[in-house]
Amino acid sequence: MNHFHELTVARVQRDTRDAVLLTLDVPVELKDLYRYQPGQHLTLRAQIEGEDVRRSYSVFSAIQDDELRIGIKKVAGGVFSSWANEHIVKGMKLEVMPPSGSFHVALAAEHKKHYLGFAAGSGITPLFSIIKSALQAEPESCFTLVYGNRASSTVMLREELADLKDRFLERLSIVHVMSREKQDIDLFNGRIDGAKCHALFQHWISIAEIDTAFICGPEAMMQSVSSALMDAGLSKEKIRTELFFASAPTQQRKPSAVQAAEGRCDVTLVIDGRHQSFSMDRNQQSVLEAGLAQGIDIPYACKGGICATCRCKVSEGKVDMDANYVLEDYEIARGFVLSCQAYPASETLVIDFDQDG
Ligand SMILES: Cc1cc2nc3c(=O)[nH]c(=O)nc-3n(C[C@H](O)[C@H](O)[C@H](O)COP(=O)(O)OP(=O)(O)OC[C@H]3O[C@@H](n4cnc5c(N)ncnc54)[C@H](O)[C@@H]3O)c2cc1C
Repeated sequence: MNHFHELTVARVQRDTRDAVLLTLDVPVELKDLYRYQPGQHLTLRAQIEGEDVRRSYSVFSAIQDDELRIGIKKVAGGVFSSWANEHIVKGMKLEVMPPSGSFHVALAAEHKKHYLGFAAGSGITPLFSIIKSALQAEPESCFTLVYGNRASSTVMLREELADLKDRFLERLSIVHVMSREKQDIDLFNGRIDGAKCHALFQHWISIAEIDTAFICGPEAMMQSVSSALMDAGLSKEKIRTELFFASAPTQQRKPSAVQAAEGRCDVTLVIDGRHQSFSMDRNQQSVLEAGLAQGIDIPYACKGGICATCRCKVSEGKVDMDANYVLEDYEIARGFVLSCQAYPASETLVIDFDQDG
């Protein structure tokens, strides 16, 4: 399941000056494997200047589209996003893992829901898939999107959003919030932060009518929107978040219980039904790093507790987990952990990468 396959780039489309849209061709024999839920993402891998670089990119096409499309926005000094924007051309083969992620809710034709989305910058990609999929799958549901950007020239998927608005005039409402381009309605100028949300909830959006809110953007924006939604009465369970990038440095983090975990641990990893064992220090490396050092092909991408590509289940023993931006409480209760953030807290450990549910 969690292996890379070569997919051919069928189309490359320049979206904004610093963002590119890619359509990936999925061969018939891989169609089932690459079927996605709205809001899911793909892990891409490339050799860039001799390094194995992996990054996650959300699918922005809708589940009803017979297409697999992603959008990559260049970040300043970014290794993968710069390479992708400058080097990917039509016909090129890319190494891509099948879709994963849980930034979505179940859709059903009989639903009559009001969804609310907050996106900033490239955070529009999973939301676009969720909006388009939901409006098509649920004829009586509606969607309000609040989308933050610097100016209209930097708005990703601008044309696609305008087309969607034309198609679902009555059921889709889009509020563009711009920080460096003045718009007629003052409420729509500035940044999406707590104060902006409170003002929007007073004058524009009735939180009492919202069934589910989705938020995707920088960490600070996600936190302030979440708090504002809860202040306005929306319960935590109705708020779904997807983080692209954590503000704090993630790679140098140390395990929280490091002082309690001395000695060594015998670890067995179960991947594709194969059991691979090794011994590791309990406080030096994460289980992911130790396994990779043994040459084991473990699925991973961000190494920062964000993308969940390295999600696995502890079936024997105990781990301490450091950063976790993605696993829900119920997953942790069932024994799921992120191997990039997991440090052994027992003398033996069996970790299963084949468990999905
Ligand atoms: C689940 C998931 C889905 C994602 N979907 C998309 C998507 O659809 N489109 C998209 O463009 N990106 C998406 N991302 C972000 C993407 O995976 C990369 O993090 C991003 O492209 C930067 O990678 P890079 O190698 O260019 O930058 P790096 O070389 O990793 O970082 C370079 C510098 O930029 C900073 N930085 C890294 N990422 C960001 C960021 N997102 N915003 C601001 N600063 C950053 C770093 O701290 C560093 O200083 C997603 C991330 C996750 C976890």
